Amino acid sequence: MNILDGKEVSAKIKEDIKVEAAAFTAASGRKPHLVAILVGNDGGSETYVASKMRNCELVGFESTNIRYDVEVSEAELIAKIQEINKDPNIDGLIVQLPLPAHIDPDKVTEAIDHRKDVDGFHPINLGRMQRNLPCFIPATPYGIILMLAHYGIDTAGKHAVVVGRSNIVGSPMSILLARNSNPGNCTVTLTHSRTKDLKTEVLRGDIIVAAIGKKNFVTADMVKEGAIVIDVGINRENSTETKSGFKLYGDVDFDNVAPKASWITPVPGGVGLMTIVGLLKNTLEAAKGTIYPKG
Ligand code: NDP
Repeated sequence: MNILDGKEVSAKIKEDIKVEAAAFTAASGRKPHLVAILVGNDGGSETYVASKMRNCELVGFESTNIRYDVEVSEAELIAKIQEINKDPNIDGLIVQLPLPAHIDPDKVTEAIDHRKDVDGFHPINLGRMQRNLPCFIPATPYGIILMLAHYGIDTAGKHAVVVGRSNIVGSPMSILLARNSNPGNCTVTLTHSRTKDLKTEVLRGDIIVAAIGKKNFVTADMVKEGAIVIDVGINRENSTETKSGFKLYGDVDFDNVAPKASWITPVPGGVGLMTIVGLLKNTLEAAKGTIYPKG
């Protein structure tokens, strides 16, 4: 069994991003700039946004966190997004999900200029991804692809089983793995809560991507010998053992699955760190105008 080490890979890619960001700043006189909008004070969202901001600083980006009270109206939020869309000194904009129930996340996502949509959730980016055209790829699947590429894992012809079909992870992951590119060229099965006999489906996977949101959901009896196992899950549980007061668990029963896997991501230390890298890479591309030319 080999570990797909998010810590090591993300550190290496961040070093490369730092060099490119410095070159951008030297040439343009300003740093790549990411704005994150956070509504309310959900603990998980606060942690994710803080980590994104911290990582921006680490690689030499400017980052701005705009916070709104949970009662903010949809109209006020969208007006702010429209203002940011027009600001030439802001390259990337993300709105941390989930949003309060009175705000339609689809309306918010579609209000973001797709050229600044570094989360890759806008329908234009999703459509372009499906067509294999240059676009911003959602950060988590992008991070997973970067990790597979880093380890030179040959995915062509493999059977990939993705568990979970969310718009931000499972669904784009299935598209990326099926695309005619490298990594990619897999035969993909996309499963969800209505899948019949999930165990049989997952057992067929040479590659398994678990994005469900349930602690230790994928057990050893669901995994074939030699499979590549990617665990996206981040399940928080209160704990007296850690300084933070909580402990993170993946969607995969790591201790029992790892001995059967050829490669596996740990939680923490796996996909979460690569998600940040995906976001940073998208922001750099937005600043440089390599995907969508500036102006
Ligand atoms: P969602 O809740 O949006 O989607 C979960 C998916 O899992 C759904 O498609 C759902 O099916 C499916 N599912 C739920 N229960 C079952 C079941 N019993 N059998 C089969 N499928 C099931 O979650 P996300 O995709 O947003 O996130 C998934 C996990 O990944 C979470 O733990 C989240 O915290 C984590 N995450 C981690 C990131 C990282 O950076 N590492 C980034 C984003 C998320 P259905 O559609 O039918 O309801």
